[in-house]
Amino acid sequence: LPIPNVPLDNGTSIPQLGSGVYLVKPGEAEDVVTTALEVGYRHIDTASLYGNEAEVGRAVARSGLPRDEVFVNTKLWNTDQTRAADAFAESLDRLALDRVDLYLIHWPQPMFGEALGAWRALIEIAESGRASAIGVSNFEISDLQQLIDETGVVPAVNQIELHPLHQRRELVEFCREHGIAIEAWAPLAQGKSDLFERPELLEIARAHGKSPAQVVLRWHVQQGRIIFPKTVRRERLIENADLFDFELDPSQMAAIDAYEAGTNFGPDPRTFDGR
Ligand code: NAD
Repeated sequence: LPIPNVPLDNGTSIPQLGSGVYLVKPGEAEDVVTTALEVGYRHIDTASLYGNEAEVGRAVARSGLPRDEVFVNTKLWNTDQTRAADAFAESLDRLALDRVDLYLIHWPQPMFGEALGAWRALIEIAESGRASAIGVSNFEISDLQQLIDETGVVPAVNQIELHPLHQRRELVEFCREHGIAIEAWAPLAQGKSDLFERPELLEIARAHGKSPAQVVLRWHVQQGRIIFPKTVRRERLIENADLFDFELDPSQMAAIDAYEAGTNFGPDPRTFDGR
């Protein structure tokens, strides 16, 4: 079944499901993205940090798909916040593209106070047409509020760690109020928890003839979130995209909501500098 598009507040739209390539090794990423595009994905989430932009770009070129049918997102790394325009140009070079669909500030790093300057640079990049949309990642309410107050330009998306064990309800509500789309990273809790063995989840999966991973991804989809679960395996790429022919009922959604535990697997955005 086709993957739906989610509208972004700046007038563009984004495929709700994509393929994320964090920790996909150089030498492997080109094949993974090629397979993803073959089996129907039209959205790739990469970052300068991931070291595989060149391979992503080659796979997009090799696919033969028209450029406007593939949504490419990349991100500004932490050490580049004071040289965002140059870092963006380098990303475009590695991707061998003249435009990306979305460009994000990867982490807020509130201890340095550089994100606002980077955001002004992204606004200029968007005005030049070389990024169709701009947004942020791992931003807390106070980080978002600062950008909005100082520039009046609201990020199109906030890409945050979000899964049944870590639901960030207050932040999600702030984003909803401001028209900021939510991208959930680690949508499957990075496969690092006991989530897929929980009895309620197994029961829901059985009832729909789906896997526990598909049920968790569907739980995100029904809340309007954008997801790009990571896998390097063709059969899992297919499994993770097979989400659009079933629906969780309110009690099944509530059973997964109840897994909230405040458990994050990534770093704390308030203190992480990644340097
Ligand atoms: P994820 O939740 O997508 O987990 C991936 C892991 O889940 C895989 O390694 C595998 O072990 C397991 N898995 C995948 N499909 C499965 C299936 N069908 N059944 C069972 N297990 C399955 O975690 P992630 O990779 O951290 O997040 C996804 C993407 O989000 C990344 O690739 C990257 O693009 C993005 N991301 C962004 C940030 C950020 O700071 N902005 C941080 C981390 C990840």
